[in-house]
Amino acid sequence: MIYLIGKKKNLAEKFMMQALEVAKFSTCLRSKCGSIVVDSESRRTIGRGFNSPPGNRESQRRCLIDKISYHDKVGDKSCCIHAEQRAIIDAVSKNPHEVSGSSLYFIRLSQENKILKAGMPYCTHCSKLALDVGIDKFVLWHDKGICSYDTEEYNQLSYEYNGD
Ligand SMILES: [Zn+2]
Ligand SMILES: [Zn+2]
Repeated sequence: MIYLIGKKKNLAEKFMMQALEVAKFSTCLRSKCGSIVVDSESRRTIGRGFNSPPGNRESQRRCLIDKISYHDKVGDKSCCIHAEQRAIIDAVSKNPHEVSGSSLYFIRLSQENKILKAGMPYCTHCSKLALDVGIDKFVLWHDKGICSYDTEEYNQLSYEYNGD
């Protein structure tokens, strides 16, 4: 992981602002998230996603269901499709040849659309998916600044998460 400085930081801030605009479309009642996937060479945005129920179906909204009500074998207790999952699927379906080596940016907003700084990574669904499709960097905005992780390191850290 590396905290971005100088021109790289400025560029990352620009992409974070794009992810922020995407996050405004979130309909999840627990958290408002946005993500974009960016081609590393052209710096073109190749995928976008916000979190909401699968297929945006109200019938499948689980935001208000207590996670402890699920059986142990229900491994995924999160309510909505994650912004990162959507951005990855979007990139893979629309720009399959640019996904390899790309960077994923993620941001979380308050209900008032203020940026909420990220803690350490823990979502193994997204970390595995990003690694599997060949995304190279996972970028988060921590209190200390914008931080870029190698996707393999990000997956490892997600499994080692211990509550911060
Ligand atoms: Zn939700
Ligand atoms: Zn996730």
